[in-house]
Amino acid sequence: MGTFTSEGIVINRLKYLESDLIVTILSKDHGKIKAMVKGGANSRKRFPGAFETGNIGEFGFVEKNPYQIAYVAHATIDDYLIRLKKDYEKTLLLIYLSGLTDVMTPERQSSQVLFSALSDTVRFLEDSKQLSQARLFYELQLLRINGLLHVVGRCELCKEPFRSGDDVHLVVASGRFVCHACVPNDGKVCRIPLALLTLIKSAAHHDIYLNGLSGMEIPSALFGFTRRIITSYIDKPLKLWDMIDTLLLYE
Ligand SMILES: [Zn+2]
Repeated sequence: MGTFTSEGIVINRLKYLESDLIVTILSKDHGKIKAMVKGGANSRKRFPGAFETGNIGEFGFVEKNPYQIAYVAHATIDDYLIRLKKDYEKTLLLIYLSGLTDVMTPERQSSQVLFSALSDTVRFLEDSKQLSQARLFYELQLLRINGLLHVVGRCELCKEPFRSGDDVHLVVASGRFVCHACVPNDGKVCRIPLALLTLIKSAAHHDIYLNGLSGMEIPSALFGFTRRIITSYIDKPLKLWDMIDTLLLYE
């Protein structure tokens, strides 16, 4: 029987039978962990509000053997994200980003970079109105960690490399980057500022920083690009996706 403790963030919770919970926690030291909380659905005394999505704290796990689900033995929450949860749009974004993390992350593969990216993002959302910036930061980090973010260095149609000073456009319907010559006559495109393209390029190789995106204007069409990559990776679209896009993209 093993016990271990780690800092973590709750990314999912499901009621199980009458009074138990199955929670998914992205832990700093052991990656994604699914675990049972005995009595977690009812007990307000033992775990008051501990397992709401987005909560950050320290979680203690007990594992009887590798073939059985672990149990959460204790939880000490440092951050309940009170201000974030009072805001409807921020809450939706939190649930969306947590859900995305859950479907894209294998169990028990430790990634401190991913943990930091998610906890930085939700803490940033506590006090910031920059929802698109937070979303783009986290999606790019998540894609890179999963080896899915390729360098946007050339036109995706004619394959000519982009040169500095070139106009780069994103085709809204397909989420593809194209050069000026390849802009389709009939489709909607969005011009992508050089600073954003540079950011995506560097995100393919290194950690990027949320501060670097703060204040940057993010054209909503850019999420067509990240969505294209995510869709090719996951089995089925996320339930919240369309709602998030309607709320956050066309404001
Ligand atoms: Zn081209």
